[in-house]
Amino acid sequence: MEALKYRLNSVESYTPNLKYKVFTLKNYRQLPQIQRLSEKQKFEIDVVSNVLPFKVNNYVVDELIDWDNIPDDPIFILTFPQKKMLKKHHYKRVAAALKSDTEKHHLKQIVDDIRWELEPHPGGQLEHNVPILDGERLQGMQHKYNETVLFFPSQGQTCHAYCTFCFRWAQFTGIEELKFSMRDVQMLIKYIRQHPEITDILFTGGDPLVMKANTLAAYIDALLAANISHIKSIRIGTKSLAYWPYRFLTDADAEDILDLFTKIRKAGKHLAIMAHFNHPRELSTEAVQEAIHKIRKTGAVIRTQSPLLKHINADPNVWKELWTKQVSLGCIPYYMFIARNTGAQHYFSVPIIKAWKIFKQAYQDVSGLARTVRGPSMSAEPGKVQILGVSRIKGEKVIGLRFLQSRDANWALWPFYAKYNDKACWLDELRPAFGEDKFFFENGGQQFILN
Ligand SMILES: *Cc1c(COP(=O)(O)O)cnc(C)c1O
Ligand code: SF4
Repeated sequence: MEALKYRLNSVESYTPNLKYKVFTLKNYRQLPQIQRLSEKQKFEIDVVSNVLPFKVNNYVVDELIDWDNIPDDPIFILTFPQKKMLKKHHYKRVAAALKSDTEKHHLKQIVDDIRWELEPHPGGQLEHNVPILDGERLQGMQHKYNETVLFFPSQGQTCHAYCTFCFRWAQFTGIEELKFSMRDVQMLIKYIRQHPEITDILFTGGDPLVMKANTLAAYIDALLAANISHIKSIRIGTKSLAYWPYRFLTDADAEDILDLFTKIRKAGKHLAIMAHFNHPRELSTEAVQEAIHKIRKTGAVIRTQSPLLKHINADPNVWKELWTKQVSLGCIPYYMFIARNTGAQHYFSVPIIKAWKIFKQAYQDVSGLARTVRGPSMSAEPGKVQILGVSRIKGEKVIGLRFLQSRDANWALWPFYAKYNDKACWLDELRPAFGEDKFFFENGGQQFILN
């Protein structure tokens, strides 16, 4: 009954034909809500958004952000650049350049220098995971774990709004060499044919659902027409449900995108929408609930993931609510990630131990239907490392870890141990326990044998 009620309400309560409006550094001051900010706050946004990408839309501004709760509102922090996202000396350099007429000419150089210092390409993505076809590197793809190949369609390399924590931030700033993109889906198909171990294709970005339905359909139709039997699942990573649910409701091609989903299902493939939700607020509007309902009606399954972020969701109660709400809307909690070492990580990062405590406290209070979530997990260079928890083994306090995904498939699920460290925020800050000098995967990847 409860579910039916929201659906009946929602039909009237989202705005038909709501026009999409984008705000960036250039025009955000036109927003009526911005009048609530002081000149100082606006200047801070100007400074930071010269370095880190800034883009927001009218749905996020009007329906998600609680403007009575500025500057602490989590969705405001998620989308509007904050002073402390830049290190002090970087902030000072850009602020000074903006204030000085002579230095303004050097602004671009100053900004570029800072961007390169912010680790624009974490996890060794650029060097390690680009697949090779007939001796040629396929720049618009990544293939790291056997079963799943990532595909970055060039028109999907932007988003409906930008998250201030985003590890893809570099590609939105136009540091050209860092952009993944590839128009030629035929290369993807040829590569997949040569790799029978691939079962999943993950369309990712940016946000592939920013693309027009017929653009995405061109990729998907070609894939389906190739009729590759070892492809079982198509996944689409997206933030559209959170940032622009009208994509599935009232956009001119909303029905077309849903029809495309149905078509994938009818071709006998599983369709997984990998939806990013960082905060329960993003699941609270009638528009998002109706959009979830419409997607599920196509037979697609919505799985959800998010990093753990200070200032946004570093609280077990927030995760409990997030997962519980997802389950009640028919979504499947999938991953909790640790924030990556890039961009504004210092602003958002939570020590590994604290992340585990938050995860544990939330997990122990939800039903098994929400315990499909795995985490906290670090997408590091050797693989996705899950923090299992703190133990004491023969008197030594240690952190238990394991791979959920790994470059070498055999590394998965073997427990390994790091010295207890309550300050470490990333795998490279951890050292092995028990006086060993290397983790097993740093040791040429010693082979384990089950017997
Ligand atoms: C996370 C990730 C995947 C998908 O992993 P699943 O556990 O199957 O969801 C694939 N490739 C890369 C590079 C990833 O980081
Ligand atoms: S929606 Fe995803 S890719 Fe886009 S800015 Fe946010 S985290 Fe990055």
